Amino acid sequence: MSGSSAPLTSVWTVAVEPLPETRPLEGNRRADVVVIGAGYTGLSAALHLAERGAEVLVLDAAEPGWGASGRNGGQIIPGLKHDPDEMERRFGEETGRRMWQTAGSAADFVFELIARHKISCHAERCGWIAAAPHASALESLRSRTEQWQQRGAPVELLDASRIAELTGTTGYAGGMLDRRAGALQPLAFVRGLARAAQQAGAAIHGGSAVGRLASTRGAWRVETPAGSVTATSVILATNAYTDDLWPGLRRTVLPVQSYQVATRRLPGDVRRQVLPGGQVVSDLRRILFYFRLDPEGRLLMGGRGPLDDRGDPALFARLEAMARRFFPQIGTAPWEHRWSGRVALTADHLPHLHEPQPGLLIGLGYNGRGVAMATVMGKLLADRALGTSHAEIGWPVTPIEPIPLHRWRLPAMALVVHWKRFQDWLDARGPA
Ligand SMILES: Cc1cc2nc3c(=O)[nH]c(=O)nc-3n(C[C@H](O)[C@H](O)[C@H](O)COP(=O)(O)OP(=O)(O)OC[C@H]3O[C@@H](n4cnc5c(N)ncnc54)[C@H](O)[C@@H]3O)c2cc1C
Repeated sequence: MSGSSAPLTSVWTVAVEPLPETRPLEGNRRADVVVIGAGYTGLSAALHLAERGAEVLVLDAAEPGWGASGRNGGQIIPGLKHDPDEMERRFGEETGRRMWQTAGSAADFVFELIARHKISCHAERCGWIAAAPHASALESLRSRTEQWQQRGAPVELLDASRIAELTGTTGYAGGMLDRRAGALQPLAFVRGLARAAQQAGAAIHGGSAVGRLASTRGAWRVETPAGSVTATSVILATNAYTDDLWPGLRRTVLPVQSYQVATRRLPGDVRRQVLPGGQVVSDLRRILFYFRLDPEGRLLMGGRGPLDDRGDPALFARLEAMARRFFPQIGTAPWEHRWSGRVALTADHLPHLHEPQPGLLIGLGYNGRGVAMATVMGKLLADRALGTSHAEIGWPVTPIEPIPLHRWRLPAMALVVHWKRFQDWLDARGPA
């Protein structure tokens, strides 16, 4: 297979342990907490709740990991889009500090969870490079690097020759290497989380789309096509696949498609020249690109596209052309996999934790950085469901605020994408 005949299946489905059994919900059940959505957010919440003795029931419309959690790039990136100084300016010293600490330690949290539950998912602390395509991006990275270094994080600035040495591609002005970060096999991780949650006592039901969510006299009731659950608390963990289950929530995020392509396994001599440093990379163009090798030596290239799910062949072709331009070493290696999924962007570029009514908790909006942050968010939601106060949670609990003019998002985002591409083109030309 090559080019446009490659199937729309993710590379992660090729060699992965089967899904634990998760039959659809039938009949009427009771639980302490019902979790809607079985990705990293929902399953991490379920695992942390079940470990502390709560009776938990997880429902997913499809199967655990069907959403972004089972088909992402597997880059475990700590931190936020915002730098620590900015977080302290925006939220005040105390809250800002707690937020960058929570986000900054998110990769550690994932590695510890994987080790504790012996999840076999090729997790490796190989480091992440934020690659600056031009001098002004490198200036921002210089400031980011200094801010994290002042806070004790193992990050360093890379000059043009060092980044070329580590990545095997030329043309970057420099970058930031973050040694807290790493990579994993995302589908294996989410299935491992599902298995760990089941072993801790959580019940998980696939094929169980929740169509109704309501509370009466202090109890929550959720309904699926063949059953219902009554619970003290509900955790809504549907991220970019959020529907109209809770009023206004869908309009708090912009769901954007992220596309990926993967080559056939590269021959050993080529593999040694592509990303020889072993890191995973995000290219900081306004229209983000990201790339890595998978554990079997395929080159994966990903990037953002428009908001709909059509899987435009031109977008895959653009990624493939980009990959060949960055890595001429791959020659004519065929493309064996093309796939996409949704990421949820928020207006303030921050993940959101909401509690619109007592007993209803919601975590979403990871802006394409959910491998680490969604897993952490699951723990925060579990803590809150078990009674940790808002002040102690480590993340602000904010009201649901739909993005203005959300229904015009398709044409508006198309314009934004064109504008950003134009700005990237201007940046690449340098000062006039
Ligand atoms: C192509 C791609 C590449 C990415 N690369 C990276 C990366 O390299 N690093 C990184 O950090 N992040 C990356 N991300 C983002 C990351 O994957 C997500 O932030 C993260 O997986 C979100 O997890 P989640 O559990 O909140 O949501 P999801 O994993 O999307 O799960 C939501 C679940 O909710 C279920 N659901 C929705 N509605 C209902 C309903 N009514 N009833 C029942 N179930 C429902 C869905 O079936 C779905 O399984 C990427 C995302 C994509 C799509």
